[in-house]
Amino acid sequence: MGDRDYYLADDENSARIRDAYKVYVNKLFTLGGYSEEEAAKAAETVIGLETEIAKVSVDRATRRDVHKNYNKMTVKNFTSKYDFIDWNIFFKETGISKSTELNAAQVTFFDGLTKLLKNVSFEDQKEYLVFKLLNSASNYLSEDFVNANFEYFGKAVQGREELQPLWKRSLAVVNRSLADAFGQLYVEKYFPASSKDKMIEMVANLQTALGERIAALDWMSDETKAKAHEKLGTFIVKVGYPDTWMDYSTLDIRNDSYWANICRVNRFGHEDMMKDEGQPVDRTEWGMSPQTVNAYYNPTTNEICFPAAILQPPFFNPNADDAVNYGGIGVVIGHEMTHGFDDQGREFDKDGNMANWWTEADAAAFKERTDILVEQFNQIVILPAKDGQPALMADGALSLGENIADQGGLRVAYTALQNTFEANGEPEPIDGFTAAQRFYLSYATIWGQNIRDEEAARLTKVDVHSLGKNRVNATLRNVASFYEAFDITDGAMFLPEEERVVIW
Ligand SMILES: [Zn+2]
Repeated sequence: MGDRDYYLADDENSARIRDAYKVYVNKLFTLGGYSEEEAAKAAETVIGLETEIAKVSVDRATRRDVHKNYNKMTVKNFTSKYDFIDWNIFFKETGISKSTELNAAQVTFFDGLTKLLKNVSFEDQKEYLVFKLLNSASNYLSEDFVNANFEYFGKAVQGREELQPLWKRSLAVVNRSLADAFGQLYVEKYFPASSKDKMIEMVANLQTALGERIAALDWMSDETKAKAHEKLGTFIVKVGYPDTWMDYSTLDIRNDSYWANICRVNRFGHEDMMKDEGQPVDRTEWGMSPQTVNAYYNPTTNEICFPAAILQPPFFNPNADDAVNYGGIGVVIGHEMTHGFDDQGREFDKDGNMANWWTEADAAAFKERTDILVEQFNQIVILPAKDGQPALMADGALSLGENIADQGGLRVAYTALQNTFEANGEPEPIDGFTAAQRFYLSYATIWGQNIRDEEAARLTKVDVHSLGKNRVNATLRNVASFYEAFDITDGAMFLPEEERVVIW
């Protein structure tokens, strides 16, 4: 259904989504050739089984806990303990052959699933797999399948009113399936070398600024600071596009059927992934394609990555002044760097290994501060109370890492901007806005969005990022230089100094 809670929560929105899901599952079986009676029975079986699986699944906030998700086992122990399927066949078919150990991640899930599946008949398990296949194929089959998929995932879950035009959907599939081939064309056309040079300069300035901020922290000991500096100094920085492109020459695209091509693309992607089994970590690999408007930090390689496509307005504008670019892409750079030191990132060392480099007192001081941030966001109303239903509140625990990164990103980018002013002098106001004001206006511009209530509710449940509005309005309440820039001393966004929290 999109989230474990939809199966289990008793609020009205979850009940509405469950009703729509029942219609969807039923429809797919009917379109797949089942009689109405068979479809109704199969739908009941599938949703019943999925609900039982939901009950033993771990919620999203817990899945962010790196310790609870690290359970290393030998393959031998794993397969004998969780014997609900024939793992030998599974490993053989998926191409896993060299591993002797694995991370079982959420063992409570496997415990639950092992018990659960012993009481589910073979026939019911087959019905479940038939649905999984129909569901994953639905967007690549005839229009009635596509429409059924949209009725549920688009309309009911996201509140969307119409399907995207065919050309956009087609483009999205090619973009996903041939990401690197597409990326190569994109980079040739839209990514000048000057953008890369400017980014490398900004990343270096942000790195210096974060180092200065770490040195000045009043809640961290010198011992932990030394480790933090070390980690910051060894970030792998990726900008624009990878050094080597994926070779698609063995991917077979034919004129037979759309779905068959999608299957071949999926197999190609799977086999490419399996080549890494038993190999050392490849630190040159990219986690996003160059034509993606996004960026990431990866804790297990200690890398920050900025694909070419994020280097355009509103994030980056070669014709705008530093204040605008530091408030845009500068904050994004600072955000990704801060992920290396958020509640998850701080659990990994400079080499990307999960290891504790904190003194006990520093870890406690960090948690004391992040708890305040969790509570601040828990107080935010996403959708007000209506018709006897309670208000929907933001999830401070689920969004903690992103909220730490947003705040850190703002502070680090602002510090870096001040450093450039110290070197080159502060620029004059433009259109009546000071440099500090242009910095914050640029930040706010990035996160402007139109959003329906259904999508706001869905994102609050599934997305680790806060809604755009709160990434701006809620985060800036903690930032003193924002108040100074606009001379704010009271009002809806004002937070007294003793209630603010500064982490990085
Ligand atoms: Zn982030």
